[in-house]
Amino acid sequence: MKLDKLLDYQSQDIALKRIMSEIEKSEDFKKIELAKQEFAIAKKNVEDSEKNALSLVELFASLEKDYKDTQEKIEKLIPQIEKLEAKLDKKPQDVKEDFEKAISELGALKSKASEIESKLMDQKSKGDDTIQKYKAASERMKKVREFHAKAKERLDALQKSKEAEIKKIKAVLKDLEPQIDKAILTQYKAITSEGKYPAFVLAHVDGKNFSCKGCGMSLSQTGSSAITGQGYTACESCRRVVYKG
Ligand SMILES: [Zn+2]
Repeated sequence: MKLDKLLDYQSQDIALKRIMSEIEKSEDFKKIELAKQEFAIAKKNVEDSEKNALSLVELFASLEKDYKDTQEKIEKLIPQIEKLEAKLDKKPQDVKEDFEKAISELGALKSKASEIESKLMDQKSKGDDTIQKYKAASERMKKVREFHAKAKERLDALQKSKEAEIKKIKAVLKDLEPQIDKAILTQYKAITSEGKYPAFVLAHVDGKNFSCKGCGMSLSQTGSSAITGQGYTACESCRRVVYKG
């Protein structure tokens, strides 16, 4: 029969798929996938903390400069006030206005300085917070990396234990390929690429009527006569190839 080699191919292909899915369904495979996601989250947190720290440092530097400038202005203003104060006793009418202006300027500078001070304190606590977040995220990265390495080690061992079997099946598949009609093999690959296994299914026969064992639907009259004629046909509902036993 024309499909014999394809059916051999299919049973080997399914055996290979079973081994692959045993690997992919293993706990360690899942753990590795989880570790990859966790690692990406922790990495993003580390990067965010770094960015945050950088902008905090910049802001801190600019606040510090403002603070220094304000302090310098205060230090310059104090001796001026002292001079005005000395004159105030002798000629109050000449300096009164300047004195009051200088005092109010001093008041404004002092309140600016204390405002900057409280901002600096605020930045410092934000900085401490950022450092804590950074530490926690790097610690998490380290742990996830260890977790990943252990799972990977076990998964590698599992894969290695299946290696010979996989190699053997792949060799058989390769050997069978040229012996199968090209169009049929292409059809097989198109169906399995959609995850439909098996792709070629035995027809269920009920008198003159055939139905697909893949999806359970009855074949049309055209389908039924095709299967009677050439021995197989594509199922109209699921596209699997239905063949007569
Ligand atoms: Zn079907």
